[in-house]
Amino acid sequence: AKHEGKSCYRFFEQGMDDQAQKRRQMELDLKRAIEEGQFELHYQPLFDAQRQKISGFEALIRWNHPDKGTISPINFISLAEETGLIVPIGEWVIKEACRQASQWPDDIRIAINVSPVQFRSNGLRTVLLQALSRYGLPPERLELEITESLLIENVEDTLKVLHSLRVIGVRIALDDFGTGFSSLAYLRSFPFDKIKIDRSFVVDIVQDKSCADIVQAITGLAAALGMETLAEGVEEQEQVNILLQRGCNNIQGYLISRPITAESASAFLEGALPS
Ligand code: C2E
Ligand code: CA
Ligand code: CA
Ligand code: CA
Repeated sequence: AKHEGKSCYRFFEQGMDDQAQKRRQMELDLKRAIEEGQFELHYQPLFDAQRQKISGFEALIRWNHPDKGTISPINFISLAEETGLIVPIGEWVIKEACRQASQWPDDIRIAINVSPVQFRSNGLRTVLLQALSRYGLPPERLELEITESLLIENVEDTLKVLHSLRVIGVRIALDDFGTGFSSLAYLRSFPFDKIKIDRSFVVDIVQDKSCADIVQAITGLAAALGMETLAEGVEEQEQVNILLQRGCNNIQGYLISRPITAESASAFLEGALPS
């Protein structure tokens, strides 16, 4: 039995080594991906259900790995954050999203996800200013999505950065609202333009009245603070009906469209159905 225990331990150690090895390899792959331009943005429509009109797209990153195929952001963003590689990746996202949006009509916005690591990096303001001016994109057409974790630590610093971004004129949205450690009190002190209500409140909204009540509370609060709301992960028409009744006019989700290529997004704007 003693002998068995020892070999189990060795096996465990070996397992850890494999994991560390995989991480190191992925870090190298990520570095190469940045150099060789293996990333691609897909775009998911943001839909104003009251005016029945597309108001913009959210850019969602994909990694076209040379051997492994397409890798979802959920499988590489956290490693990119831990290694700091999210900063150059995020810079590429800003430039590429601004370039793409500059090809679209003036009333179509682009939303991008900004990692907390990137948000706290020094170069963010400069990168934004350079991308906006290079592609002649009016700042109000760019919306930065940030998450609640920024409202927990270094609140003072976060506020300073948010205000400096507000000076540039870009819009700021609070992503995944309701999932984190959200304090309603914080909302009052931050200049958000939009609150994105997390998918978890939408999933059960038809069956579970408490989800609908929560959505109504959020939209009421947002309206009082002069903020827009958008519901994420909308997959059924019945969810839209309830969201509209509860004061949420903007929706995003598979019901309207999955994230699509830039080419399909442009076709979508022309009125063609996405592929
Ligand atoms: P997120 O910002 O909350 O983005 C929404 C995610 O929900 C996307 O997953 C989208 O494809 C998915 N989604 C949209 N509509 C529906 C729906 O109706 N039903 C369901 N089940 N899912 C829906 P995706 O593209 O895999 O992105 C995952 C996360 O990765 C994003 O969550 C975001 O946090 C992060 N991410 C994506 N692109 C970037 C980026 O460029 N930079 C950073 N820092 N993070 C990114
Ligand atoms: Ca987002
Ligand atoms: Ca989200
Ligand atoms: Ca989410």
